[in-house]
Amino acid sequence: MKNYCFWFCTGSQDLYGDECLRKVAEHSAKIVEGLNQSGNLPFPVVLKPTLISQASIRKTFNDANNDPECAGVITWMHTFSPAKMWILGLKEYNKPLCHLHTQFNEALPYDTIDMDFMNENQSAHGDREYGHIVSRMGIERKVIVGHWASEKVQKQLGSWMRTAIGLIESSHIRVCRFGDNMNNVAVTEGDKVEAQIKFGWEIDHYCVNDLVEYVNAVSDGDVAALVDEYYSKYKIIDEGRDLDEFRRHVAVQARQEIGIEKFLVDNDYQAVVTHFGMLGGLQQLPGLAIQRLMEKGYGFGAEGDWKVAAMVRLMKLMTADMKDAKGTSMMEDYTYHLVPGEEGILQAHMLEVCPSIADGEIGIKVCPLSMGNREDPARLVFTSKEGPAIACSLIDLGHRFRLLINAVDCKKVKKPMPKLPVGTAFWTPRPNLEVGATAWILAGGAHHTAFTYDLSVEQMADWAAAMGIESIVIDENTNIRDIKNELRWNEASF
Ligand code: MN
Repeated sequence: MKNYCFWFCTGSQDLYGDECLRKVAEHSAKIVEGLNQSGNLPFPVVLKPTLISQASIRKTFNDANNDPECAGVITWMHTFSPAKMWILGLKEYNKPLCHLHTQFNEALPYDTIDMDFMNENQSAHGDREYGHIVSRMGIERKVIVGHWASEKVQKQLGSWMRTAIGLIESSHIRVCRFGDNMNNVAVTEGDKVEAQIKFGWEIDHYCVNDLVEYVNAVSDGDVAALVDEYYSKYKIIDEGRDLDEFRRHVAVQARQEIGIEKFLVDNDYQAVVTHFGMLGGLQQLPGLAIQRLMEKGYGFGAEGDWKVAAMVRLMKLMTADMKDAKGTSMMEDYTYHLVPGEEGILQAHMLEVCPSIADGEIGIKVCPLSMGNREDPARLVFTSKEGPAIACSLIDLGHRFRLLINAVDCKKVKKPMPKLPVGTAFWTPRPNLEVGATAWILAGGAHHTAFTYDLSVEQMADWAAAMGIESIVIDENTNIRDIKNELRWNEASF
């Protein structure tokens, strides 16, 4: 992650005199200091001089565009700032924009308030003038309302900062595909040109044997050291297999982890796609290797699913360095539990579930794969954390993209599943399985998802809006009649 910061730009004008502008600057400095000391923001806020003219507004927005460390601008009108002054700056600005609709004082100063005070503190007035021009220009921005010192407002601002990182960093995501999408599968396909236009993703293709050269070039010493690390970190669940043979299978994955990562680093990729049916000279489908790479922050999609790989990478960036993060992974809707009152979906994949979502002990198993024709791959097995999370599916409708965002509640299954050789999660989609799954299917959602405990529906919906694509939210407020109408109306709107 780069050393990102966010600029704080206060709007005013020169009509009120120097004394008023001095107070505006003083208040802005106190707000910025308060925000930075709150502990609720993941990135620092940098105060800029009060903007009182078209020239200074235009220059500030262009400086923000050109500063690689500036990830977005937070705007606030302390007084009235005639909005025609903002048009050219806003028109040229191309980074995330937040409108913090706040006020320096929290309470009306009943005993002392006079016209001077009102003229100096008129965000209710000035922010409406500013909001009007941003809306008229059709610029997507986040509006946050409330007193700047409240924890709720600060947390909203902090959460928007992570959305902004997702917007800024999206155009630095490069996806490496080994092989093409799985034959005949529809939902993992998509328009890579349109994805680059909309999201900035570069999506390339390599023959898997280009990777095999990297894997075979890894030294035995490096492999042995990594296998030792695996054996010290994870529980070995040999299930009666020959221990030397087990270790040799694990070593194949260690060699792949090092080889794949070197390939990605050498060629500047941050996300990777494999396909179990297209393994060339690889001895095993990368399982444990991919799980470890996802944990390090790489994006991953299975069976050629580059949309999921890019989305997982995006979410890893949006949640980077988050305190108490619970994890982010590629996921797949696998098997239902339909017992009344306990309904949920068992989530897993053939192998590739990120251990960042694990709860408790992580083990290594070596088991046959029912698909493909390679040796039994080693994989990490675990169950996942409880709590609220989101599952996202980006689909290509042919003429445009749609992002589905489902709020889900992760739970423990009632009993252990000792024969299952994969990492799993179990969740109930909101508002319940029946409505959630009906809505998901009506909206065309995929079986692969980008899943995280650490982002909200709001953050991803804001990301989609700023990217200029449709989002469909399925949460506690969803009902089928409304979502069918929303899909119809969106068809016309987009
Ligand atoms: Mn799959």
